[in-house]
Amino acid sequence: MSEERERESEQGFQNPVAGFGVTFKAMFKKRLTEQYPEQPKVTAPRFHGRHQLNRHPDGLEKCVGCELCAWACPADAIYVEGADNTEEERYSPGERYGRVYQINYARCILCGLCIEACPTRALTMTNEFELADSSRENLIYTKEQLLAGLTEEMVDTPHAIFPGMDEGDYYRGLVTEAAPGTVRQIAVSQGEKGEEVDA
Ligand code: SF4
Ligand code: SF4
Repeated sequence: MSEERERESEQGFQNPVAGFGVTFKAMFKKRLTEQYPEQPKVTAPRFHGRHQLNRHPDGLEKCVGCELCAWACPADAIYVEGADNTEEERYSPGERYGRVYQINYARCILCGLCIEACPTRALTMTNEFELADSSRENLIYTKEQLLAGLTEEMVDTPHAIFPGMDEGDYYRGLVTEAAPGTVRQIAVSQGEKGEEVDA
């Protein structure tokens, strides 16, 4: 047998043994397996996750429909349409509110530039990261999906401004809950019908 063939035959025996050696050593190492989704990963407190549209303490919306977030977005992922509040249908304390608000998570890179641009802190980011979906349509989140939930002190929009307060008072923190007797108005702009009035 030539020297070269002898070496090849020796390697043919050693290689599988060396391979099993790698497996054997790995058996005593700390396991890196993550039991997701049964044990969800805990993110850093300032993790950039899904967005949230915030409310004032009485339930009125902080978004004023200014579109600054949309202009700041490098991925063109935000679509906003503002509209005027009326006394009969009020969504925010000031003159304007965000009538349509969408974020396209097929585009968003979660950079956070939009929340830096927002002048009213209406837009912030949560720690939620489970945004994957098999449909592009489902990745476009609407205002209804992004709006913060209601606490006990809040009334859902539209509703009247706190009596005696103006927009500035809301930002000065003078409104801490919905005024007693506050009721939700009819959202005519969203196709809700008012009560029939007999002639
Ligand atoms: S996080 Fe970045 S990419 Fe996503 S909507 Fe905001 S600005 Fe656009
Ligand atoms: S979220 Fe903020 S920046 Fe965007 S439209 Fe509303 S108020 Fe303006």
